[in-house]
Amino acid sequence: MAADPVAIARDLIRCPSVTPEEGGAIAYLQRVLVGAGFEVHRLMFTEPGYDNIENLYARIGTHEPHFVFAGHTDVVPPGEELLWSYAPFAGEVSEEVLFGRGAVDMKGAIACALAATFDYVAAHGGEPKGSISFLITGDEEGVAVNGTIKLLQWAAARNEKFDHCVLGEPTNPNTLADMIKIGRRGSLNGTLVVTGTPGHVAYPQLADNPVRGMVTLLGALLREPLDAGSTHFDPSNLEFTSIDVGNKTVNVIPGEARARFNIRYNDCHTRDALKSLIEQRAAAAAGSIRWRIEWDPSNADVFLTSPGPFVDLVRTAVADVTGKSPALSTSGGTSDARFIKNYCPVLEFGLVNQTMHKIDERVPTADLVTLTAIYRKILERYFG
Ligand SMILES: [Zn+2]
Repeated sequence: MAADPVAIARDLIRCPSVTPEEGGAIAYLQRVLVGAGFEVHRLMFTEPGYDNIENLYARIGTHEPHFVFAGHTDVVPPGEELLWSYAPFAGEVSEEVLFGRGAVDMKGAIACALAATFDYVAAHGGEPKGSISFLITGDEEGVAVNGTIKLLQWAAARNEKFDHCVLGEPTNPNTLADMIKIGRRGSLNGTLVVTGTPGHVAYPQLADNPVRGMVTLLGALLREPLDAGSTHFDPSNLEFTSIDVGNKTVNVIPGEARARFNIRYNDCHTRDALKSLIEQRAAAAAGSIRWRIEWDPSNADVFLTSPGPFVDLVRTAVADVTGKSPALSTSGGTSDARFIKNYCPVLEFGLVNQTMHKIDERVPTADLVTLTAIYRKILERYFG
C-alpha cells in the first residue's frame, strides 16, 4: 500500500513544535524513517545564549548520486487559538482540507517528501540507485542558529557529500504548479547615525541639529536605485524602517538621530560591495555632516542556482504531473537554502503559501497527493 502523505502530515501537525520546542516532531520522523530502513541521526545543537534545538539527518543508500530533501519541523506560534476553525494542533480534515499550524509551512511538504521517498524506495527493492537523505531542522522560524547551518557542518565533518537538494518551503502563490525558487535575495540591516551638538532651539547657530543632516542623508540614499535588476532578480531595494531622535523636549535641539534600514539585494552586489556603495553615497552627500553606519551581522547572502539540467529536471517533473510549467523565481524572503547552497545546488518547491503563518493555515488534501506525485517524479527522473 502506498504511503499516505495526508496521514503523515496530520501526525506531524499533532506535534506542537513551535520553535524552539521539538514537540515530538523529530521523534516521529526518527521512528518512521528508521522503520523505512534509513540510518537516522538525531542531533541536539547548542550555543550559549540560544535555545538548544533538535535536528535530524537520515540517509538511505550508500552510492552516488546523493539527493537531499531539506525542511523544518518547527512552526510559528498559532496566535489566538479561538480564532481558528479547528484547534491548530489537532490536524483536523474538513471537506478534504487539512487544517493546522505547519500544514503548508512546512510539515505538509515534509510528509509529501517522506511518502514519495518511501514509495520510490519500495518500488526499487528497498534501496535507491544512489542515496536519498533528509536534512530536517527544528530551528528555521527562529534565529536559525542551531539549525540547518550546523546540520550541514556536522554532515560535512562526516564526509557526507550532497549532489542536489530540494527544500520544500511553500513556494507557490496560487496553485501547486506556479513557482520554483531558484535563488534568494540577500538581506542586510544597518543603522544610519548622525551626530550633532545639542542646544537651545532659539540659538541654532550655537548647536548642530542632526535632524538636518539626517534628512540630507536619507534623501541621498533614497534618490538613486541601487541597480536595475538582473536576469533572474528584481532590482535591489533599500527601505528605511524607523527614524528615531528620542527627543521629548520641544525647545532642545537633539544630539543624535538614528535611522534603521534593510536592504534586499540581488546578484549585482556582494555584501561588502553593497556596504561600500551605501557608504560612498552617504559620504558624497555629507559635506560637514558627522555620520556613520552601524551594520548588523548578516548570514543572508544572495544566491542563485543557475538554470541548467537540475532546474530543468524539477520543472519537467512538475509539468509531468500537473501539465503546467512553473515560473523560476528569486522573489520573497530568505530561507535555509542560503546555507544549503554552499554545499550543493538547491531549489525550493513546496505547497501553496497563501495561508502560511496565518490563522487557519490549511492545505487541500489533493495538494498533498499532487506534491507527493511531483516529488516521486523528481526521484524517478533523478535516478533515471
Ligand atoms: Zn518555512
